[in-house]
Amino acid sequence: MSKIKRKIYLIFWIAIAFGSPLIPISIYFNNNWYSLFHSYSMGMVFGLCAFVYFLNALVLSCRIRFLDRIFGHDRIMIFHGWLASIALCFALTHVYFKWIFFIDTSLQTFLGLIGLSLLFIIMSITTLFMIDSIFHNIKIVAQLKRFIGRIKVFDYSNLKLIHNITAFAMLAIMAHVYIASSTQETIVRMVLVQVWAGLVGLLYLYHKLARPLVAQAKGFIVHSVTKHTKDIVEIVLSNPKRKTLSHKAGQFGYFRFFSKTCGNAEHPFTFSSAPGNKLSITVKNLGDYTGKLGDLSTETHAAVDGPYGIFTPQQNNKPKVFIAGGIGITPFLSTCAHWDASGLMTQTTLIWSCQTQEELFAHDIFNTYAKKYDTFFYVPITTRQPNPYSKFNRINRNLLESYLPQDHKNLEIFYCGPNSLRHAVFSSCRSLGITPSQIHYEKFSF
Ligand SMILES: Cc1cc2nc3c(=O)[nH]c(=O)nc-3n(C[C@H](O)[C@H](O)[C@H](O)COP(=O)(O)OP(=O)(O)OC[C@H]3O[C@@H](n4cnc5c(N)ncnc54)[C@H](O)[C@@H]3O)c2cc1C
Repeated sequence: MSKIKRKIYLIFWIAIAFGSPLIPISIYFNNNWYSLFHSYSMGMVFGLCAFVYFLNALVLSCRIRFLDRIFGHDRIMIFHGWLASIALCFALTHVYFKWIFFIDTSLQTFLGLIGLSLLFIIMSITTLFMIDSIFHNIKIVAQLKRFIGRIKVFDYSNLKLIHNITAFAMLAIMAHVYIASSTQETIVRMVLVQVWAGLVGLLYLYHKLARPLVAQAKGFIVHSVTKHTKDIVEIVLSNPKRKTLSHKAGQFGYFRFFSKTCGNAEHPFTFSSAPGNKLSITVKNLGDYTGKLGDLSTETHAAVDGPYGIFTPQQNNKPKVFIAGGIGITPFLSTCAHWDASGLMTQTTLIWSCQTQEELFAHDIFNTYAKKYDTFFYVPITTRQPNPYSKFNRINRNLLESYLPQDHKNLEIFYCGPNSLRHAVFSSCRSLGITPSQIHYEKFSF
């Protein structure tokens, strides 16, 4: 998709996301516009905005494929978080405006408060302990996150389960809006709330209940498990039903293995195999779940939901620079294998930084491409061991200057790896005059 088209879509969908409360507002204030800015009505306006923004945030969490294809899954999940936070602020303002006039103890208020309190607690837990947020720049919060992470009850899978309580909070909020006297005043308002909330509820149920069944029905099983290093394992899946998953190189899926070894939790992994081949993922032991995948036995059933993501480099006349940190190499494993199958024509430089030589587990594969194609350049880096392959042991401006093609104007940079390295890569690129629009990246955490 062209950049201009993507920008137009971006503006359109952001306008929809933020402007959609105008629909209920116009229905609730039809023939009554003169009262809109009375502070009592402001309570209602903030309430309606909060309600619609919460619904929109819920929709975004449902992995809508066409939005994913335009914006990328990681950005959608980040926007989902911001929209929910804005909704929370609007909801608190709604409470403030309502309480200026009277504090009532009706069932309707009780439901609203229950829903809001639950959302507040869940969002605080998510922001503090589940995702990387600006709050983690505060040392004590970062320490608290690390400490909580060590307690088994608060591992990522359980935090995800806690996050699902959002659905119950939303039920309480929906009931709060539906039985509000202002909604019950006209049939149109009641139908609007019912239909809107009902559709979002159905979508959420599809996402949580039907989608896992669809993923399971594809019938993947574990074909082989290979340990490349003590921490890196490759799992190849096969499909006795001969079904394939048509993914692009660089995309990822949500995987669930039905095994007592690792539990049934769902985790995202990039397809490290080229499209059309047996599906494989390559996983680094980064925690409780990934640490157990090496012990999976063959024939274990697996569910794969996907493909997702727009981190999909294409062969064209623009020279490519792939920069990977550690296990961030997986999208490039798939891309290079795919391009090898069709003939690697685009000038491509792969810079792969790992701590040790052992972690460069696909070193031989990339060396083979470098020997086979005069369009492919491979630059391995080891940061914690002397680097036998080049004089550099850090990705910085000097390294990029040495290995990047002279003309930076048409370059396309693709980065996948840890956030800390991403910042270093971005600032080195900027100092070389490479613009942000030339850099594509994928986060391995949302
Ligand atoms: C789009 C994407 C592609 C990825 N591709 C790969 C890959 O090819 N190879 C690879 O080794 N790793 C990949 N990861 C990272 C991998 O999903 C996590 O390392 C793994 O889920 C960690 O689980 P854990 O229980 O072992 O570790 P934990 O200690 O529980 O988690 C470590 C961190 O991983 C993230 N994480 C954990 N569970 C989930 C989950 N269910 N959903 C989303 N994020 C989670 C969180 O940021 C968490 O803080 C990818 C992640 C994303 C988002």
